[in-house]
Amino acid sequence: MTRNILIVAGDGIGPEVMGEVERVIGWFNEKRGFDASIENELVGGCCYDAHGVAVTDETVEKAKKADAVLLGAVGGPKWDNVPYEGRPEAGLLRLRKDLELFANLRPALCFAALADASSLKREIVEGLDIMIVRELTGGVYFGEPKEITDLGNGERRGVDTQVYTTSEIRRIAEVAFDLAKKRDNRVMSVEKRNVMKSGVLWYEEVKKLHGEKFADVKLEHMLADNCAMQLVRNPKQFDVIVTDNLFGDVLSDIASMLTGSLGMLPSASLGAKDASGKACAMYEPVHGSAPDIAGTGAANPIASILSFAMALRYTFELGADADLLEKAVDTVLADGLRTGDIMQPGMKKVGTKEMGDAILAALTKLNG
Ligand code: NAD
Repeated sequence: MTRNILIVAGDGIGPEVMGEVERVIGWFNEKRGFDASIENELVGGCCYDAHGVAVTDETVEKAKKADAVLLGAVGGPKWDNVPYEGRPEAGLLRLRKDLELFANLRPALCFAALADASSLKREIVEGLDIMIVRELTGGVYFGEPKEITDLGNGERRGVDTQVYTTSEIRRIAEVAFDLAKKRDNRVMSVEKRNVMKSGVLWYEEVKKLHGEKFADVKLEHMLADNCAMQLVRNPKQFDVIVTDNLFGDVLSDIASMLTGSLGMLPSASLGAKDASGKACAMYEPVHGSAPDIAGTGAANPIASILSFAMALRYTFELGADADLLEKAVDTVLADGLRTGDIMQPGMKKVGTKEMGDAILAALTKLNG
């Protein structure tokens, strides 16, 4: 059964880092019988230049049919003045919306070799392995009413609405419990039930689902403000954190910075499973198109390569292959190779392609 992967490399450093991902996929095809076919499509500014839109209908349809979509990055100053609907981000947002990607997975993994790059002490972050599961399509970013009204006398009122339903909470909690089972079997559910009704509902529904289907997973609850504090005080206490769109936005950024550079951070966005068990999925680095270094061959491809490792683990259910790829990255870092963004004194500075070469060589060595 051939696996279908759609690559939308995008703009700036997107094509550079995704070029290395393609080489890694080729390695898995050749050496581990992965059997993936790759198609490439445009998204973002490059698509606007070619088609006048940030993503075409055909590409959205292909993305829906693909087993996994791998995205590089979109955007750049070249498209600062294009019409709002044609801006590069619109392509990304449309893909997320049309594929109904409601679950955003942001791991915060600290490689031992990079522990000193964190703003926290080595002993606090070394060995860190957290997964933040953020609800991505509901909550205060989308709730209605959402408006600014003129109250007269120079007074205006801005309103956003935090709203969640039972099914929205249950489906994201289900993702978190399922993930926990493949990890350390612990879920921390985060809300603010002390001051928010949606937080009370979140707490009650997560607890109910846990009792019904996931009693074998350890569930705890924490208020979002305390969670922010605990993430910098003692982040290793967490395994899976599940939270809403707004808190997840903030907490995942805090957690990611515990681990060093943007160039190291992968992510996954998953949709609901259909009757056949297939779920749409998009994997992408957290970083943007880095126009300041685009075309120089200096970009760090690791965030994109680790995003592909997430695809191996979560879409293709090839945990051993994902472990192998993460181990290869770990080995290369331990050997002292660094792109500019993670450069440290005494280490060897390499470019995008050399980093890709080293990861491929480490894969071959580890594969025996
Ligand atoms: P950015 O993430 O592109 O870059 C921030 C800084 O980190 C830059 O100095 C950059 O050189 C560096 N950096 C980022 N990724 C790197 C990598 N892989 N290797 C080495 N260094 C790396 O964020 P920005 O500068 O705020 O945004 C640039 C463009 O990217 C904008 O047009 C923005 O809208 C877009 N953007 C896109 C996405 C996405 O496609 N998901 C996300 C964020 C920003």
